[in-house]
Amino acid sequence: MNMPATNLGGRSFTARYAGSTVLAIGAHPDDLELGIGGTLARLARGGARVVMAVVSIPGETETRRREAERAADILGCELRVLLEPGRRIEDIKHYELVALLDSQVRELAPSALFTHSASEFHRDHVAVYNACLSSQRLVYFDFFSYHPTMCRPVPMPFHPRAYVDVTSTIDVKMRAIDAHHSQFACRGISTEMYRDIAQLQGRMVGVPYAEGLDVGRMVLA
Ligand SMILES: [Zn+2]
Repeated sequence: MNMPATNLGGRSFTARYAGSTVLAIGAHPDDLELGIGGTLARLARGGARVVMAVVSIPGETETRRREAERAADILGCELRVLLEPGRRIEDIKHYELVALLDSQVRELAPSALFTHSASEFHRDHVAVYNACLSSQRLVYFDFFSYHPTMCRPVPMPFHPRAYVDVTSTIDVKMRAIDAHHSQFACRGISTEMYRDIAQLQGRMVGVPYAEGLDVGRMVLA
């Protein structure tokens, strides 16, 4: 049974970012949809400009780029791929990765940045998280980390500190994940685990579906 929800009233999560730019950074196509697809769709519907920046596309570049474009479209977000085709995150030095993400932060001046967390097991994800940490020195933005992303479940020591109610966008999130056909349907992997995770997170806060976030920094004005 769900915990009863408290009506906090006041300014909503989406109103906080309406009219501003939000930057979401994922190492690969599908990371953002898995981690915060519901949150990004809510922000876009709420009037934020949401930029989904994918650092690199490994493997079948053209197919995966098309899938990522379709998924971003479903969520109502803009897609950017930061590294040229064929370049992997491990191919570049950490300072180059920091410079790459710095240029996005300088250009977009985001009000919030969402990225991987320190709890990830994929080295590319941790590298992107660490580079995003460095970008905090440039300008103030709210900094959040999303749930570790993977195609198959692996135990992860991730402890959310904030929860976004994604009940209104859970189906959009699932459609965006399913757009990554080459990663799931083609390999016989079910995407339902992500609905289950959102349901579990929702139970923590008394709503049907939620996405948990770790909070790196946030001003409560
Ligand atoms: Zn990834």
